[in-house]
Amino acid sequence: MFFRILALAFLLITCCLSVNNSTAVAYEELNEGSAKKSRSASCVVGRTAPPIGFWTWPANASVNIYLREPDFSTSDVSAVKVAVENWDATATETGSNVRFVFHGLTRELRNAQGEMTILRQAVFNKTQRHRALLEAHSRQQDQFIDYALMLVDPSVRDPGMLTNVVAHEIGHSLGLLDCYKCDSRSTAMGLLKAGDESNGMEGPTFCDRLEVMAAYQGLKPRSPLIAAAK
Ligand SMILES: [Zn+2]
Repeated sequence: MFFRILALAFLLITCCLSVNNSTAVAYEELNEGSAKKSRSASCVVGRTAPPIGFWTWPANASVNIYLREPDFSTSDVSAVKVAVENWDATATETGSNVRFVFHGLTRELRNAQGEMTILRQAVFNKTQRHRALLEAHSRQQDQFIDYALMLVDPSVRDPGMLTNVVAHEIGHSLGLLDCYKCDSRSTAMGLLKAGDESNGMEGPTFCDRLEVMAAYQGLKPRSPLIAAAK
């Protein structure tokens, strides 16, 4: 019984997937931990490249990113902008053609089509050691993301670490999964270092871009939403 409870908790934590009545929601998280030194420049899933399988923005989507205040302030803007622009620059190369536009501060929690709001929420605990969480919403429950919330733990204060977190979570929204055992600096989907130290990942690596390309090549076109008639 004890084992079964543990197994269930593990499933919830690692898959972080839940569905409610009207909207499917998926969660991904960023943990803290140590990283290994890079051994290879080639892209091997699980060693130097992240696996794929998380939900994605639809191909050709335009994603508008906002930073909620007072959770964040003008001093945080540039740290977020770096990661957003680095991912946006890969839109054509990866074949996703998903464009990311950073709009700066907002006071709202936005949930219109293609909107992503970054806000503060306590997601860290000593067991999970999450530093951030991506809450992805799919109104059609088809694993295509309509809007998303990026929850960043208050412990993430260092600008470099904030850049790492945003780069990592945007990667999730393009289909990438965590690769905690990947070599250091081989992917943005690895672990954060302990404490407030940046892991140096400000955007996607070559292997990340290849994996996003693979994720989007495997997607079927999204079905048009059919309105229910009474
Ligand atoms: Zn993650």
